[in-house]
Amino acid sequence: DSITVGELAKRMGIKANELIRELMKQGSMVTINHPLDFETAALLASEYNYEVENVAFDEAAILEDSPAVKPGTEEDKPEDLELRPPVVTVMGHVDHGKTSLLDAIRAAKVTEGEAGGITQHIGAYHVELNGRKISFLDTPGHEAFTAMRARGAKATDIVILVVAADDGVMPQTKEAINHAKAAGVPIVVAINKIDKPDANPDRVKQELTEFELIPEEWGGETIFAEVSAKEQLNIESLLEMVLLQAEVMELKANPNKRGRGIIVEARLDKGRGPVATVLVQEGTLHIGDPIVSGVHHGRVRSMVDDRGERVENAGPSMPVEVTGLSGVPDAGDLLYAVEDEKKAKDVALHRQQKLREAELAKTSKISLDQLYAKIQEGDVKELKVVIKADVQGSVEAVKDALVKLSTDACRLVVIHTGVGGINESDINLASASDAVVLGFNVRPEPKSSQLAESEGVDIRLYNIIYDAVSDIKNAMEGLLAPTL
Ligand code: GDP
Repeated sequence: DSITVGELAKRMGIKANELIRELMKQGSMVTINHPLDFETAALLASEYNYEVENVAFDEAAILEDSPAVKPGTEEDKPEDLELRPPVVTVMGHVDHGKTSLLDAIRAAKVTEGEAGGITQHIGAYHVELNGRKISFLDTPGHEAFTAMRARGAKATDIVILVVAADDGVMPQTKEAINHAKAAGVPIVVAINKIDKPDANPDRVKQELTEFELIPEEWGGETIFAEVSAKEQLNIESLLEMVLLQAEVMELKANPNKRGRGIIVEARLDKGRGPVATVLVQEGTLHIGDPIVSGVHHGRVRSMVDDRGERVENAGPSMPVEVTGLSGVPDAGDLLYAVEDEKKAKDVALHRQQKLREAELAKTSKISLDQLYAKIQEGDVKELKVVIKADVQGSVEAVKDALVKLSTDACRLVVIHTGVGGINESDINLASASDAVVLGFNVRPEPKSSQLAESEGVDIRLYNIIYDAVSDIKNAMEGLLAPTL
């Protein structure tokens, strides 16, 4: 973990500029937001008679998110675990009936005995079959599934693979199979559109054997259902099949601990602020819980379920719409309930800081330290330099020596030279053309240092021409000793 120049200065009770000057003396041009690694910070601090302690920010500890706290491992005792509903994603080729199937399931099960049925679309819903629940992610297709996986999140227990009985296995059918297999998620096959006159379920089964999806009646282990989403045929037996698959998997979670879930979708609501649909994965989420998700934090202000009802608690596999976060998280982000609001805030701020550092690193100008890497990546084909020296003779000598360093991979271009201190116009020029500034027996004027900091311009100061030439040569070859 690192600390910024500004933060270190603050903790030692000195001005950031003083620290920046000190670093400059040591040959390193940094901005106030520049992160210092532990060694550098310790060295600097020791010059001010301070000691730096390496207390890395332990986010995982605050979130209680160690591998040991994952369900089914030591932390949750077996007697703490309870069966939870399976979470299902519907995948398959375009037009094979994914959306229709999700609608048919909703229509078949949810309105039954419930006043309004599902009026809300919150990105996920659940149905009940003889007292057993199944949760569905309401975004069909493998894009959402893959996007979540790419973020390291696993939201799905079972995939329903929809294949149209009149069309058979198509390119996206294969993709869906591959995605499910790569994620290790079992597939239940729904052969859809069996109401159509040209429906041929056996042909679909035949085609799927190629992908090791073999029905039980043919000696395989894959569960098949033949349905019509349009005519609402066999929807209930498909749900039975899903529950059968879930039973084999023994999906469990501990509902009696702090909640943790995954963001299914999130948006900014004009009246309610950030609104996020959370699929709870472990524990139980309560009204008032301090929470953190992505770089945002807050408290659970309200929860609304997929029936549009306000709820006080949400347990494993239940989708709820949560308000109270400080901003809109991304789909696939995890949401954690934590001990207190301060911890939620600490984690969020820490993540924001990391994000800023990453962005800063991206936008910063060329520096000798990164030159080699950028040449290797093909990002940089020439190094531009501004040369300032105390006398014209030095300017010419340096220029001649540097230009000779040009190689095929990286050309050296002197874009400006001058006699005198490094001024703001030198920095502006360097910033605009992504150049480094070399000074010989000269110093930057105070305002130029500040400008260089804010613009991220690399200034190097030398007394001996040989040192400059060897620095540049080394930088081009990736041999520059890291500053500090
Ligand atoms: P998606 O692209 O996989 O989400 O497919 P849709 O659910 O949008 O369905 C594509 C088309 O197939 C629509 O015109 C549906 O009305 C139709 N469709 C879906 N299911 C059935 C079915 O069981 N039988 C028939 N005949 N048509 C269906």
